Amino acid sequence: MSHPAVKFDLPSLFKELEPSLAEFERNFPLEEFARGHYQQHPFATLLTCCDSRISPNMLGDTFNRVFCVENIGNQVKNSEGSVLYGLLHLRTPLMLIAGHSECGAIKAATSDYAGEPAPLVKELDTVKGSLQQACAGIKIDLAEAISDQAKLAQLNVDAQVAMLLSQAEFAELVQKQELLILGLMVDLHNVFGEGFGRVYTVNVNGELDAGINRDRADIGGFAARARRLP
Ligand SMILES: [Zn+2]
Repeated sequence: MSHPAVKFDLPSLFKELEPSLAEFERNFPLEEFARGHYQQHPFATLLTCCDSRISPNMLGDTFNRVFCVENIGNQVKNSEGSVLYGLLHLRTPLMLIAGHSECGAIKAATSDYAGEPAPLVKELDTVKGSLQQACAGIKIDLAEAISDQAKLAQLNVDAQVAMLLSQAEFAELVQKQELLILGLMVDLHNVFGEGFGRVYTVNVNGELDAGINRDRADIGGFAARARRLP
């Protein structure tokens, strides 16, 4: 599960960070922030894997726009309170759940992780539970599906959408069209065959049919991105 250690030159990294911090301070959108009474008003709750290659910046400037929840394998259950806060208190009209190709959490959850520290085992148990549930839902065996990790990542996204929809309060918000839940796949490794780093819509409010999702008029550019791995 471990990666080989990379040697970083921290002094030069700190030097590189300085312009970024200065730029954030220089561009701080004070007027807009004041107009919103210094409160947060995000339009989206985003649950992603904390993999450093998945950038919330895919949604543009995230400041006061994206309530970002990250954990390994993008699991609702492992950050349930945070997700609920975004949806029920901040009332974001959009819930995005983004999985990705070659997810280390999915790789780990489908291998022997018993020797890992207990908190990590606990989170991986949740990932494994999601995968088992998703596989059972389409009547395939997790052990057989292991060879197709990208498909497992897609199924994992489906499982998270299903988990939210199984809760009456979210199902009701979706029904009243006050909440849209989009499941996304960030294809870091060109598994879909259309290029590295593309973003696809794999699930809309529990609907998996890419043809149906492509025809939706209420999800903007996410409609044209509707695809599914077979
Ligand atoms: Zn991941």
